[in-house]
Amino acid sequence: AFVEHEAKAEDNPRFNEINYKELREFAFVGRSNVGKSSLINCILGQKLMDANKRPGKTKQLHYVNLPYSNCYLVDCPGYGFARVDLKEKESWGKLMQNYIFHSKSLRRMMILIDAKVGFGAMDKMLCDLLDQKEVPYIFVLTKCDKINETRLKKSILKLKKHPLSSSASPVIFMTSSLNFYGVNELAAYISYIVSM
Ligand code: GDP
Repeated sequence: AFVEHEAKAEDNPRFNEINYKELREFAFVGRSNVGKSSLINCILGQKLMDANKRPGKTKQLHYVNLPYSNCYLVDCPGYGFARVDLKEKESWGKLMQNYIFHSKSLRRMMILIDAKVGFGAMDKMLCDLLDQKEVPYIFVLTKCDKINETRLKKSILKLKKHPLSSSASPVIFMTSSLNFYGVNELAAYISYIVSM
């Protein structure tokens, strides 16, 4: 509940100032169908993203403001879906390159990787772009409920073969939106970064 002061907030220019240096963005990216919408919904504790959309359909960046903060979760379009043609792949590349190179507020990028599918060529391309701009990124394995521990360990080993640049976090999160495995840890990590 709140009451409104006589002088309305929107009349005060200081409330309308946008300080781009202080805005913080945490982007989520990964192959189409990796489970990105499901994971974002899990983290936020509410269904904001449509998890039932056709794979490869999202072509824009979706910004979700974290309540009472200057932070945004940014849902990036998925990549590498088989049905998506070359033109669409190119436009995805341009969009992401533009975003990574020109956003003043991008603080972290979470690269989602399906635990069963593993690290692929498009993931590598994305890491290279982030390395060039020195944007810190973190690997998040999704759908960990779908594989047993042995296969999960193999997925992690494969991921660890990707040489760590100074931009890559040594921490790899393991998650499942189905049974909420690792979701609290990831949400806590984001809260920690938000409060820094
Ligand atoms: P997006 O295209 O990356 O946004 O992926 P979605 O969140 O839409 O998920 C794609 C499909 O994977 C849907 O059928 C989801 O129900 C399913 N899915 C998402 N997360 C999980 C998970 O953690 N475990 C399992 N078993 N399935 C999942």
